[in-house]
Amino acid sequence: MKPDEELEVFNCTMCGDCCYGRGGVRLTEAEAAEAADYLRLSLADLKRLYLGGGEPPWEARVDLEGYCMFRHPGGAGCIIHPVKPAICRLWPFLPGPLKDESAFNDAKAACPGLADDLNWADFKAAWAAEQE
Ligand code: SF4
Ligand code: SF4
Repeated sequence: MKPDEELEVFNCTMCGDCCYGRGGVRLTEAEAAEAADYLRLSLADLKRLYLGGGEPPWEARVDLEGYCMFRHPGGAGCIIHPVKPAICRLWPFLPGPLKDESAFNDAKAACPGLADDLNWADFKAAWAAEQE
Protein backbone atom coordinates (compact mmCIF):
# COMPACT_ATOMS: atom_id res chain seq x y z
CA MET A 1 0.00 0.00 0.00
CA LYS A 2 1.14 3.54 -0.58
CA PRO A 3 1.42 6.66 1.57
CA ASP A 4 -1.73 8.71 1.69
CA GLU A 5 -0.55 12.24 1.38
CA GLU A 6 -2.62 12.47 -1.84
CA LEU A 7 -5.92 11.89 -0.09
CA GLU A 8 -7.91 15.07 0.35
CA VAL A 9 -8.87 13.98 3.82
CA PHE A 10 -5.27 13.76 4.92
CA ASN A 11 -2.35 16.11 4.56
CA CYS A 12 0.60 15.34 6.79
CA THR A 13 1.85 18.45 8.56
CA MET A 14 5.15 16.74 9.47
CA CYS A 15 4.47 17.54 13.10
CA GLY A 16 6.25 14.35 14.15
CA ASP A 17 3.72 13.47 16.83
CA CYS A 18 3.25 9.96 15.46
CA CYS A 19 6.99 9.35 15.94
CA TYR A 20 6.76 10.05 19.67
CA GLY A 21 6.53 7.40 22.33
CA ARG A 22 7.75 3.93 22.95
CA GLY A 23 6.51 0.58 21.81
CA GLY A 24 4.28 1.50 18.91
CA VAL A 25 6.72 0.83 16.11
CA ARG A 26 8.15 -2.60 15.44
CA LEU A 27 10.13 -3.81 12.46
CA THR A 28 9.85 -7.28 11.03
CA GLU A 29 13.03 -9.00 9.92
CA ALA A 30 12.32 -8.00 6.34
CA GLU A 31 11.65 -4.37 7.31
CA ALA A 32 14.82 -4.26 9.40
CA ALA A 33 16.85 -5.70 6.52
CA GLU A 34 15.43 -3.04 4.19
CA ALA A 35 16.20 -0.28 6.68
CA ALA A 36 19.73 -1.61 7.15
CA ASP A 37 20.31 -1.65 3.39
CA TYR A 38 18.90 1.85 3.05
CA LEU A 39 21.17 3.21 5.78
CA ARG A 40 24.09 1.14 4.48
CA LEU A 41 24.48 -0.62 7.76
CA SER A 42 24.77 -4.26 8.62
CA LEU A 43 21.68 -5.73 10.23
CA ALA A 44 23.73 -6.19 13.41
CA ASP A 45 24.63 -2.50 13.48
CA LEU A 46 21.06 -1.43 12.74
CA LYS A 47 19.88 -3.53 15.65
CA ARG A 48 22.61 -2.21 17.93
CA LEU A 49 21.92 1.43 17.09
CA TYR A 50 18.19 1.57 16.51
CA LEU A 51 16.31 -1.49 17.70
CA GLY A 52 15.44 -3.24 20.90
CA GLY A 53 16.69 -6.73 21.55
CA GLY A 54 14.94 -10.06 21.59
CA GLU A 55 13.04 -11.77 18.85
CA PRO A 56 11.59 -9.93 15.85
CA PRO A 57 9.59 -7.90 15.26
CA TRP A 58 12.04 -5.55 16.90
CA GLU A 59 10.88 -2.43 18.67
CA ALA A 60 12.32 0.85 17.43
CA ARG A 61 14.25 2.48 20.25
CA VAL A 62 13.50 6.03 21.32
CA ASP A 63 15.90 8.91 21.88
CA LEU A 64 16.31 10.94 25.05
CA GLU A 65 13.35 13.11 24.09
CA GLY A 66 11.15 10.08 23.61
CA TYR A 67 11.05 10.14 19.82
CA CYS A 68 11.72 7.17 17.58
CA MET A 69 15.41 6.76 16.87
CA PHE A 70 14.67 6.86 13.13
CA ARG A 71 13.34 10.39 13.37
CA HIS A 72 15.51 12.87 11.53
CA PRO A 73 17.95 14.42 14.01
CA GLY A 74 16.95 17.89 12.81
CA GLY A 75 13.30 17.37 13.71
CA ALA A 76 10.33 16.00 11.83
CA GLY A 77 10.97 13.49 9.11
CA CYS A 78 12.14 9.93 9.00
CA ILE A 79 15.63 8.86 8.02
CA ILE A 80 14.23 5.63 6.57
CA HIS A 81 11.17 7.23 4.96
CA PRO A 82 11.23 5.21 1.69
CA VAL A 83 11.50 1.94 3.59
CA LYS A 84 9.82 2.77 6.87
CA PRO A 85 7.80 -0.03 8.47
CA ALA A 86 4.27 -0.74 7.33
CA ILE A 87 2.67 0.74 10.41
CA CYS A 88 4.32 4.09 9.66
CA ARG A 89 3.48 3.96 5.97
CA LEU A 90 -0.16 3.26 6.75
CA TRP A 91 -0.75 5.59 9.68
CA PRO A 92 -3.35 6.97 10.31
CA PHE A 93 -5.14 4.49 8.01
CA LEU A 94 -4.57 1.56 10.34
CA PRO A 95 -6.95 -1.37 10.83
CA GLY A 96 -8.10 -0.05 14.21
CA PRO A 97 -9.35 3.36 13.06
CA LEU A 98 -10.78 1.77 9.91
CA LYS A 99 -12.78 -0.74 11.96
CA ASP A 100 -13.71 1.21 15.05
CA GLU A 101 -15.09 4.74 15.23
CA SER A 102 -13.66 5.49 18.67
CA ALA A 103 -10.21 4.43 17.43
CA PHE A 104 -10.75 6.76 14.48
CA ASN A 105 -11.61 9.59 16.88
CA ASP A 106 -8.43 8.85 18.82
CA ALA A 107 -6.40 8.90 15.62
CA LYS A 108 -8.02 12.17 14.58
CA ALA A 109 -7.17 13.73 17.94
CA ALA A 110 -3.60 12.51 17.62
CA CYS A 111 -2.95 13.43 14.00
CA PRO A 112 -3.38 17.03 12.84
CA GLY A 113 -2.97 15.83 9.27
CA LEU A 114 -6.52 14.51 9.26
CA ALA A 115 -8.98 17.18 8.16
CA ASP A 116 -10.82 18.87 11.04
CA ASP A 117 -14.25 18.17 9.60
CA LEU A 118 -13.49 14.60 8.61
CA ASN A 119 -15.97 11.99 9.78
CA TRP A 120 -15.47 8.25 10.09
CA ALA A 121 -17.50 7.37 7.01
CA ASP A 122 -15.45 9.68 4.82
CA PHE A 123 -12.24 8.40 6.36
CA LYS A 124 -13.17 4.82 5.44
CA ALA A 125 -14.43 5.85 2.01
CA ALA A 126 -11.20 7.70 1.25
CA TRP A 127 -9.17 4.66 2.15
CA ALA A 128 -11.40 2.33 0.11
CA ALA A 129 -11.06 4.64 -2.89
CA GLU A 130 -7.30 4.60 -2.51
CA GLN A 131 -7.31 0.82 -2.76
CA GLU A 132 -9.18 0.72 -6.09
S1 SF4 B 1 10.18 4.71 11.67
FE1 SF4 B 1 10.17 6.82 10.93
S2 SF4 B 1 8.00 7.31 10.56
FE2 SF4 B 1 8.10 5.48 11.88
S3 SF4 B 1 7.93 6.29 14.00
FE3 SF4 B 1 10.13 6.08 13.47
S4 SF4 B 1 10.74 8.10 12.68
FE4 SF4 B 1 8.51 8.01 12.66
S1 SF4 C 1 0.84 12.88 13.47
FE1 SF4 C 1 -0.14 13.00 11.47
S2 SF4 C 1 0.37 15.04 10.70
FE2 SF4 C 1 1.82 14.59 12.37
S3 SF4 C 1 3.61 13.69 11.31
FE3 SF4 C 1 2.27 12.01 11.94
S4 SF4 C 1 0.99 11.58 10.12
FE4 SF4 C 1 1.89 13.63 9.86
